[in-house]
Amino acid sequence: MELRRVPSPNFSPRASGSWPVFLILHYTACDLDLSLKILTNGQSDNPVSAHYLIAEDGTIFLLVDEEMSAWHAGRSSWGAYHDGSLNTWSIGIELVNLGSHPYTEAQYQSLLTLCPAIQKRHQISPFHVLGHADIAPLRKSDPGHHLDWRRLAEHGIGVQPQARAPWQGPLEIRRLQTLLARIGYNVTPSGTMDLETSSSLRAFCQRCAPMHLHNAVCPEVMALLDAYARSLS
Ligand SMILES: [Zn+2]
Repeated sequence: MELRRVPSPNFSPRASGSWPVFLILHYTACDLDLSLKILTNGQSDNPVSAHYLIAEDGTIFLLVDEEMSAWHAGRSSWGAYHDGSLNTWSIGIELVNLGSHPYTEAQYQSLLTLCPAIQKRHQISPFHVLGHADIAPLRKSDPGHHLDWRRLAEHGIGVQPQARAPWQGPLEIRRLQTLLARIGYNVTPSGTMDLETSSSLRAFCQRCAPMHLHNAVCPEVMALLDAYARSLS
């Protein structure tokens, strides 16, 4: 695992009284050269960055020091953290991937080394290792359905719920929304399948139930949501 330092000017001090409690995974949706260009471009009208960028060959680029806030999350929220952006509360890792193909074995090997070290340094809970889509479901779908979250969770990177019993209750939207909100998604239990709900459900399925991505309102996903929510308490 090679670590290369390519400093980005796109960072700011963390807001006073804040520290990294989340680890957020992304894909760049472009190749390595363009990813580096975008993430280190200080002249952009919309400057962005991340702490780390992982190339397809596994090389890890350190762009922003962990003490600083990188600009990767944008408008985002999770649970009680809903004041605008999670940038000041997070570490961000970008993976070079177009969203249309699997991540490379070298990228997994780098994630398996880098993420536990970050989690240990900042005592980040596995429950707080999330995808960009989880914290900004209306705007984002990265790191996409190709990331093998189950494999990562086996190494303590994120969590995967285990449903002990099949869901017996009705498939009520309000119940679904209550579970999503309890987990951390920014969803209001309105009883109707609004955009917030459907996009949050999609993000959840990408991460925890990829086989149900296209038929998400089903007993299996309800059971997983329920198991996930219960594991929090
Ligand atoms: Zn992203």
